[in-house]
Amino acid sequence: MMTFGIVQTTVLVAFSNRFFTILLAKVHAHADEMALLAYSDRDTGFPNSQQLAKDIAEWTEDRKRATRPCAMVGFRLEGLETINETRGIDFANALLRDLVLRYRSSLSALMDAKTIRKIEGFAPLYRVESNTFVFLIEVPDRDFFTPNRMAELQKTIDGLFLGYREQSVISFRGGFSSYPEDAGNLEQLLKNLLNLVHATRSEGLGVFTPFNMERYQAFLREQSIKAAIANAIWRGEFSLVFQPKVSCATGGVRGFEALARWTSAEFGRISPVEFIPLAEESGNIAALTGHLLDRALEFAALLARNGLMFPVSVNLSPGAVRPDFLSLIGEKTAASGLGGMLELEITEGVIMKMTTEIADDLRNLKELGITFSIDDFGTGYSNLGDLQKFEAQVLKIDKRFIDGIPHDEKNATLVQTIIRMGKSFGMEIVAEGVEYGEQRDFLARSDCDMIQGYFHSVPLESDNALAYAVAHGGNG
Ligand code: C2E
Ligand code: CA
Ligand code: CA
Repeated sequence: MMTFGIVQTTVLVAFSNRFFTILLAKVHAHADEMALLAYSDRDTGFPNSQQLAKDIAEWTEDRKRATRPCAMVGFRLEGLETINETRGIDFANALLRDLVLRYRSSLSALMDAKTIRKIEGFAPLYRVESNTFVFLIEVPDRDFFTPNRMAELQKTIDGLFLGYREQSVISFRGGFSSYPEDAGNLEQLLKNLLNLVHATRSEGLGVFTPFNMERYQAFLREQSIKAAIANAIWRGEFSLVFQPKVSCATGGVRGFEALARWTSAEFGRISPVEFIPLAEESGNIAALTGHLLDRALEFAALLARNGLMFPVSVNLSPGAVRPDFLSLIGEKTAASGLGGMLELEITEGVIMKMTTEIADDLRNLKELGITFSIDDFGTGYSNLGDLQKFEAQVLKIDKRFIDGIPHDEKNATLVQTIIRMGKSFGMEIVAEGVEYGEQRDFLARSDCDMIQGYFHSVPLESDNALAYAVAHGGNG
């Protein structure tokens, strides 16, 4: 038993040794393969972003090379996902390899060999994201990219799609960013370029664009503002000011519009023109509006305590017009018991895109006594049918039409037409942004009901708004 046991153990050890050697060899081979895989793109074999990072680090260490001006050039393919789905991944990969080879050869043919030097070790084209490719070239300076050269580049890139356009929808967004003009180091150069080919969402298709530092900084500011909004709501950095709406005929107060203000610990004062769209884009608009609605209801309660039952209107962005938030408005309003003093300003766009579910939700809010006004009227594309369908009580004519009156005859006629039309639907009319006496006089003659604007008052903090209502409230 004993002997057998030893033999068995020896065999086992020998076997497992051999097994281990094989395993080790496999592991080594695998490691090489892994290294290759880590630094190159599996589908096309092109070097990837890891390789680029490694090359950039080497480049940066070499002080002689690091000071030479260069440019990161790249492009992002649009439509690749669709091709993947409709034609399969093999077709997409073949197309990629083909496009990229064509891109490089046409590009080097296009660019003057004397003015452009491929950087040693940087000549390869890197696939840094699934549809984004970049390469580094040495150029004398940023002026290398003259409008002429860029137009040629664009044409050349356009030509790459010959033979593919017929089979699929594919295009690109291209650009360049140069060192040292646009960035202090190569990592930043890459960030610039990625931002460039990602950020030009609505424009830039089929176009080769230079990196723009101002636009990039604006983009960075937007990103950090978006990231700060949720916290700022929680910290109570948002507040409201109230602008009186005044009777055109008597000058007495008829209501207030609540307008958001933000004094940020980080950015200082920011205009709602800037932060409202960012709150929409970052998905924070409902939370923000909910917070502002509470403040508006507080102000309405303050007015009510003083026997001044004027409507207070809150702006409702398109992003806040969704079932869950509309029912929250309903709950908050019902709890306050001030439904009769709350008005919501919505834009034409909201009415045009209104589903039956939203229409029902808005009707429920009307039943709580909430009134509605159509904001910025004239700037959207709504027609009379849309307006009649919703039955808002108030129509606000946008400032841009009020600016030129009474001297701008076209706008003067337009404003009178809107007033007549709105009134024929039983709506009350508010003119926005009234700054001068002659505008007010013209509006009064044209039978406009209310005006809002600096002529009567700028937006006021709640205490001052209350004082204004007390002083001008009796004769509305
Ligand atoms: P809006 O709703 O059209 O608000 C009127 C804007 O015109 C306000 O700018 C107001 O201060 C300004 N204004 C009033 N009278 C005059 C005038 O006589 N002359 C001039 N030049 N301007 C005048 P504000 O407060 O900067 O708000 C700008 C926009 O931001 C608003 O336009 C609205 O679209 C949005 N907004 C402001 N507060 C809120 C809010 O609480 N929620 C939402 N969703 N949007 C808001
Ligand atoms: Ca408004
Ligand atoms: Ca408005």
